[in-house]
Amino acid sequence: MNKSKFFILIIILIHTSELMSQKIDLDILQGKTTRHLIGDTVLLEKETFKAFEKMRNAAMNDGIKIKIISGHRDFERQTLIWNSKFIKFTKEFKLTPDEAINEIIRFSTIPGTSRHHWGTEIDIIDEDFKNEKNPLISEKYESGGVYNKLKKWMDLNSEKFGFYLTYTNDEQRNGFEYEPWHYSYKPISKNLLEEFKKNNISKLISDLEIMGKEYLTKEFIKKYINENILGVNKELEL
Ligand SMILES: [Zn+2]
Repeated sequence: MNKSKFFILIIILIHTSELMSQKIDLDILQGKTTRHLIGDTVLLEKETFKAFEKMRNAAMNDGIKIKIISGHRDFERQTLIWNSKFIKFTKEFKLTPDEAINEIIRFSTIPGTSRHHWGTEIDIIDEDFKNEKNPLISEKYESGGVYNKLKKWMDLNSEKFGFYLTYTNDEQRNGFEYEPWHYSYKPISKNLLEEFKKNNISKLISDLEIMGKEYLTKEFIKKYINENILGVNKELEL
């Protein structure tokens, strides 16, 4: 091999290893790129997608049809959710801006801080009951609820496939309320959380152009980071 061919080979090798290492940057963490995702209607991070397929097939063999109703959600979509809830709670329900924000963060995140941005999170239902009007209500996953069969299967099996409940009903946990429908693919999401924590999250939040931004005080943001961002199932941090 002559010298120039050798250098071309080196360049190709460097380029390939860069693609393979899939650098975790802020765009991935904040839902501003889809380059690490695959899927058609529901987009998921590549490894999460493969693991989910395995889990879905195993559940299918046991007669349970797992359906994802929310996977990756981008920054823009989260901003739309935030703003429309802010308008609804202040205009329709006549809440003060502070009350509206506290109501939003019972279940929804500040744009740029959603784990759904990462592509490692899934909200699931049982496909046999896909036409439920408001599917994401915790009672529906408990005993007597339409999604209880699914929940029981997940309790027994999901962790074998790497999927853990993110917002558990553990009383010691602060932040978002119990979400029996929301699972995280731990092998990837634990690294993403570590990476996210390395950023100045307070600044990311205070720089946002969202409705009610003037009410996001330093104290509020500090509490939100400690309770909502870090208040996840302890198993996801191990
Ligand atoms: Zn979710």
